[in-house]
Amino acid sequence: MKIAISACLLGDNVRYDGSNKKNNEIIKLLANHEYIKICPEILSGFKIPHEALERKNDKVYTKSHKDVTAKLNKGSAKALKLIEGCDIAILKSKSPSCGYKKIYDGTFSNTLIDGNGIFTDMCIKNGIEIYTENDLEILNELLK
Ligand code: SF4
Repeated sequence: MKIAISACLLGDNVRYDGSNKKNNEIIKLLANHEYIKICPEILSGFKIPHEALERKNDKVYTKSHKDVTAKLNKGSAKALKLIEGCDIAILKSKSPSCGYKKIYDGTFSNTLIDGNGIFTDMCIKNGIEIYTENDLEILNELLK
């Protein structure tokens, strides 16, 4: 099984604020598997640190309300190309790029709504199964 993974879950300091979301359990699970790490925001040309982003409907905005949808779409398409042939993607929850099922609502008020990140939607459209760091139980079974 070929796996795509959000770079921040592997400990890369690629989040908007220069931090990561290293997840040791996922790293352990990946030990005997082929995987490709990607960060759609880095591939979109965002520098670190950069302003926080949130998705609102089909658009993505910075906290100061700059529309960065085209930029993020371009980088997400690049990321999708890089992970061609992957069966599953393990993505960072709640991100406007990588989030799955729940994302922030675009008001920068810490409010979650149903929805996916821009990159996640592209993966789903291309038949890639999505998991997040919150699916450890399922991933344990899948990758054992
Ligand atoms: S775009 Fe995805 S991989 Fe990059 S920092 Fe955000 S959640 Fe992590």
